[in-house]
Amino acid sequence: MPLAVLSGLWLGACGGSDSPSGPVPVVSVQVTSPYPALLVGDNVQLTATTLGARGAVLTGRAIAWTSRDPAVATVSTSGFVTAVSPGMATVEATSEGKRGERMLTIVAPASPVSAAGQLFMIDALQPGPLTAAFRIGDSPPKSVSVGTDGRFSLTSVAPGDPVDLLIDGPAGAYLPSLLRFPRAAVPATALRILLAPRRWTIATGTYASSTIDISPNQAFTPPCTTTGDTNCDGYYPKAWVSGIKVWDDATLPAPLAFDHARSAAPISASDSAAFWAIVDRMEADIGHELFRPVTASDLVIDADGWSAGAVLVRLDASLAAGRGFTNWRWDGRGVVHSAVMRAGSAAALGGSSLVTHELLHAIGLKHSCAWPTVMGGYGCPSAAGLTRQDVGYAHLAIHLARIQRTTNAYRNLYEAMQGERVALLGLGPVSLTLAEALGLPRESGRGQDGAH
Ligand SMILES: [Zn+2]
Repeated sequence: MPLAVLSGLWLGACGGSDSPSGPVPVVSVQVTSPYPALLVGDNVQLTATTLGARGAVLTGRAIAWTSRDPAVATVSTSGFVTAVSPGMATVEATSEGKRGERMLTIVAPASPVSAAGQLFMIDALQPGPLTAAFRIGDSPPKSVSVGTDGRFSLTSVAPGDPVDLLIDGPAGAYLPSLLRFPRAAVPATALRILLAPRRWTIATGTYASSTIDISPNQAFTPPCTTTGDTNCDGYYPKAWVSGIKVWDDATLPAPLAFDHARSAAPISASDSAAFWAIVDRMEADIGHELFRPVTASDLVIDADGWSAGAVLVRLDASLAAGRGFTNWRWDGRGVVHSAVMRAGSAAALGGSSLVTHELLHAIGLKHSCAWPTVMGGYGCPSAAGLTRQDVGYAHLAIHLARIQRTTNAYRNLYEAMQGERVALLGLGPVSLTLAEALGLPRESGRGQDGAH
């Protein structure tokens, strides 16, 4: 049954309000419909509002409903319309001799649109009952049932374009996910949708048992001062839209070596000690081992100065003394597998915010403008070390990436951002290309930090 049926509004009579000189006369009648176009067989509840002089709403007045085109649409004595055949139908509401009307367009069933898929969620949260709505163009939304295993399938013959699939629930635990397709481009293959939680409780580390709100929409309009720069466009969680790219947690702690041979200056034992003290602090904050020290001679380093499966740290004379720069690489499944961190001087290896920032890049995390963060800069708020949100989002990234890789559900935060904008914030959806909408695994690639 269309949701429109629920939208009929009946105002109760409020007796006793009449003046001694008699009831205020009805001057006009307004008729509204939640949907201008109906499919043959659809029902919709119309609403008639009686108005007095100067537009005052009058309640409790008798209303008579008639259809001028009953072969196209009929109307009941209570304003309940049934679409009968294609065409235009005018429905009238009359009260105290005054008449209002509403024209409705009735269209024939279009070719059916079908989609099927499965939803995936963070394992620690119970799936619970999910609600999904399937809406085509301006047609009334159709509810979709979702199985306890997250599977759904849906078919609609409603006309219009585009096709929206909005998924929400249970009990506000997940960000609503909105997928929008041109009608002709609804995927024939099953959609695999990864839902993002709206709140995330940190399980380990300095901020254990505290909870952060997840709001991908914050990253949509970062107050970044150099938009167009890759550093500004790479802000996470916005950067997760094409799939989260981090090390596979099973491979952490990642081996990390100082690349003395390719360093522009010596790295002393005390430089190393200062660096690893910062790593210790990072690991205490996150509550996981991230890196383990190895020597460069233990690694195979290629001609370009990279080592597969490891992180290399070297000094680079092309960087200013207090600056850092990190490059990292990932495979087609979004698994980061190697990184090179460069610093402008040995002293920079003892800089807490610089090393923390660059090593988060080495894990695969990018800049953010959505919260106070050690990944700030470029006009966005910065922090000296890992903040609660940094830790929470890092944990979430690792969890979502694990689900993404085991389920191949590469749709994730873009749809959550869309859903958050449309369902929670009341904003219009942002257009997305079909390639973005499909959210398929991308080619392997490389990330690059700016110098800090
Ligand atoms: Zn950076």
